[in-house]
Amino acid sequence: MKSDVDQNQPYPEGHDHRRCVADALSSAGQLCIVRGVQLTTIRQQVLELIWESHKAVKAYELLDRIKPLQSAAKPATIYRALDFLMEQGLIHRVESLNAFVGCRCSGQPHEQLLLICKACQEVEERSAGDVMQTIVRELAAANFIAHSKAIEIQGICAKCAAQTVS
Ligand SMILES: [Zn+2]
Ligand SMILES: [Zn+2]
Ligand SMILES: [Zn+2]
Repeated sequence: MKSDVDQNQPYPEGHDHRRCVADALSSAGQLCIVRGVQLTTIRQQVLELIWESHKAVKAYELLDRIKPLQSAAKPATIYRALDFLMEQGLIHRVESLNAFVGCRCSGQPHEQLLLICKACQEVEERSAGDVMQTIVRELAAANFIAHSKAIEIQGICAKCAAQTVS
């Protein structure tokens, strides 16, 4: 699928976000065709709304934003769309915020390290392969059955840190 997006590149200020959105939507569309699942209008609209920025979005915010597009939308409509998008690996749930972000490396199952900025709410996804190996080893040693293996780190992103200093 798309190979020109480096997952480990942070989002620079003023980056071409329209391209992020276009890439995310087109790879989501292709993925759904390959998998034979339906990216219905509402699912696509929810995905687009999540991709409006790199900030984590809550379900009720999505409901507010989708109302002008789908006046009949109910919370259940949003939750069903979110479930679908999570199942397909197109978005991630940020557990600590009870909110959602778009995934830039959809298509492959992957473990993620989510860096959550408390100042701007942007969430940066990094790959967590090496960290996960250690965690998996400890889980096995503890005979612990993990239900989710995302690592979420709260803090201040580079952009916000630069603003506070200057
Ligand atoms: Zn972007
Ligand atoms: Zn991801
Ligand atoms: Zn920030």
